[in-house]
Amino acid sequence: MKIPFLELKSTYLELKDEFDKAYHRVMQSGWYLQGSEVEAFESEFADYIGTDFCVALGSGLDAIRIALQSHGIGRGDEVLVPGQTFIATWLGVSESGASPVPVDINQKSHNLNPDLLEDALSSKTKAILPVHLFGTPADMDPINAFAKKHGLIVIEDAAQAHGAKYKNKKCGSLGQSAAFSFYPGKNLGAFSDGGAITTNDREIAARARALRNYGSTKRYQHEMPGINSRLDELQAAFLRVKLKQLDLWNQRRQFVATSYLDHLKDALALELPVLTNNVRSSWHLFVVQHANRDYLQQQLSNEGIQTLIHYPIPPHRSKVYMGSHGHVKLAVSEQMAMDTLSLPIGPHLGKTEVTYVIETLMNILRGETLGG
Ligand SMILES: *Cc1c(COP(=O)(O)O)cnc(C)c1O
Repeated sequence: MKIPFLELKSTYLELKDEFDKAYHRVMQSGWYLQGSEVEAFESEFADYIGTDFCVALGSGLDAIRIALQSHGIGRGDEVLVPGQTFIATWLGVSESGASPVPVDINQKSHNLNPDLLEDALSSKTKAILPVHLFGTPADMDPINAFAKKHGLIVIEDAAQAHGAKYKNKKCGSLGQSAAFSFYPGKNLGAFSDGGAITTNDREIAARARALRNYGSTKRYQHEMPGINSRLDELQAAFLRVKLKQLDLWNQRRQFVATSYLDHLKDALALELPVLTNNVRSSWHLFVVQHANRDYLQQQLSNEGIQTLIHYPIPPHRSKVYMGSHGHVKLAVSEQMAMDTLSLPIGPHLGKTEVTYVIETLMNILRGETLGG
């Protein structure tokens, strides 16, 4: 059996009629940017997340950068970021003009460890940018409490957490602002790039709206050095179709995750994701840890199962940040880069495929202990 890590065409085919209708509606309208589809999507996504405002943008990277800039964060400021994440978290900070300051992650949750915030704090710290890595909410209560105590802004990187919940509130509504990505492979993904900011702050939303459009609130009047970062009407129309399906698709991911958790729990030397009982993951990724990760990946590949590694190089060890952060030691983040493996997960996976992955993996692990 061949199991791709992710398969996007089936999401198109599942709702083909609605996507095709949306396509024709936008094409026939003659209006392709900054129109009614984006407006409608913004209002529907804000409702879904539970915030007053949503500002749609060109990408998740831009959402991080524009969220920070809307809060007045930039050159000379420091932003606390987790040591292990997709590099866009860090790059968004750098693009805003501020400097990312890493905080190591928690071994179990894979998310920023709130106990280490104090050590990373300086007089230049302006914000914390927790990531809900793999779709599992970061521990927001202690993060928000620390932020409040020190007058910091909290901006969530919710790029992997569409629909995830922390204490019954959706990710994206847990800080002052949040950044989302609609990259095709995300839980809510467009058929191109896209992103958004959610917030309850009217001023921040207004500033983000200006920043995405050359810093302009009125045509040809430019109040700030903005960029061009606009979600287009077609993608907004497609996202409106997918948003209606998001909870169902997340439930299918939950089914895959629950099957993995139930059937792999006795697997030797394999560490499974650990969730506290006050969170609901969006299961963007299902990440296991094993000391012999590369061997597992090769063996699974031999059996037709595609896996990925999120992420093989933590940002501070990547070439971009070697100069500025290469000296930093982040033990847990570095360990994770060496032993994590992401198993196939997504709405495209049915019971047969999941059972095949579980049985194959169990066989490999049994063989490995025999020296295979
Ligand atoms: C995908 C992702 C981003 C960036 O989103 P793009 O839309 O690709 O720019 C940022 N942070 C995290 C954690 C992501 O997974």
